[in-house]
Amino acid sequence: MSLADATPAIREWVADHRQECIEFLEDLVAIPSATTVGDDEEAVAKRVLEEMEGLGYDDAFVDEFGNVHGVVEGREDGAVMLNSHIDTVGHGDIGQWESDPHTPYIEDGQMYGLGTADMKCAMASMVYGGGALASLDVAPKHDVYVTGELMEEVSEGHAMKYVVGEMDVDWQAVVIGEASEMDVKRGHRGRCELRIDLEGSSCHASAPERGVNPLYHASNVLERIEELNEETEDHDFLGKGTVAATNVEVDTPSNNAVPAGATIYVDRRLTIGENEETAHGELQDAIDAAVAEYGEEVDATIETLTFDRPTWTGYELESKKYYPTWLLEEGHDLVRDTYQVADTVLDREVEVRKWTFSTSGNYTMGVAGIPTIGFGPSREEWAHAANERVDVEDVVRACDVYAGLGLEL
Ligand SMILES: [Zn+2]
Repeated sequence: MSLADATPAIREWVADHRQECIEFLEDLVAIPSATTVGDDEEAVAKRVLEEMEGLGYDDAFVDEFGNVHGVVEGREDGAVMLNSHIDTVGHGDIGQWESDPHTPYIEDGQMYGLGTADMKCAMASMVYGGGALASLDVAPKHDVYVTGELMEEVSEGHAMKYVVGEMDVDWQAVVIGEASEMDVKRGHRGRCELRIDLEGSSCHASAPERGVNPLYHASNVLERIEELNEETEDHDFLGKGTVAATNVEVDTPSNNAVPAGATIYVDRRLTIGENEETAHGELQDAIDAAVAEYGEEVDATIETLTFDRPTWTGYELESKKYYPTWLLEEGHDLVRDTYQVADTVLDREVEVRKWTFSTSGNYTMGVAGIPTIGFGPSREEWAHAANERVDVEDVVRACDVYAGLGLEL
């Protein structure tokens, strides 16, 4: 069925299920799943599964990794993924919240609570958008997977490494539901988390000449890292790459000793033309600046950090904390089709823009090369902030858009 033909029936179904969708979102917000402070997503994944089962999806299951999927079968081979992560960040300073982060409430058309914006709202909208497709006799083009992804807040795309690499599904396209202000997003900068280990030689601080002090080398390296910001690439759509030293650790037996080692942590935001290799190259350049001053006694290594926390099902997988830049070209079919669905379904002006933050698109598109696009209720600035909120009407309208995307893509 064409989108124009199906839209009235989708809207009617969503309007009839509006209250269930809102209550489902409230249930999701009430379940803690802050992976940044050590929660897992078992309870929230099971709650999503229960809703999918109740809505009559053709299939609903938790994969071996622990992600949850609901499937609506399509006419052709291949599948489209509607993707939301089901974890959140921690609530941060509780004193800044006007109410309990896990007791959602609605005031002036906005729902407040942890994860309302980032991004349980999109999970609720996707589950109900897929629910509309499962209930109506509309036969989407491809199989539609509504996927609740784990651990995004601690390593975005890590779970996608499993979904794309281990599940036997021919992915045609991915729709990421992160906050887009109901606009279409076609890319974002990448990032890389790095460490530089500077080896020294420890000795008693009363006779520092007996040792090699890595802190002095670190000071040269840090100075050079700051200067690197003047030399990063710039891109007219995605913006400029940036580099920041974010932490320093010292390996020392006491404050009366020359340390045995120093570690500098670096957060590198990558634009088009930059990648893990260029990031390593620049840091080598920073180390060379220290060598120029101190000579060959500077002993340093550069490494990309890794992530390997087991999931709630006990699955173990290691990913590099390298999240490549991605950008779908303006003329790509997926950009055009997503725009057309949003434009047809919503009675408002839709723009095509970029995200400022990073999403799991870094894996689906940046690593796996699956065409990826963004559309989500809520606003970027509400994510990771106290009194997080979402416009309830946008959550409902996003169900219509996700149903349309599932049908068309
Ligand atoms: Zn998010």
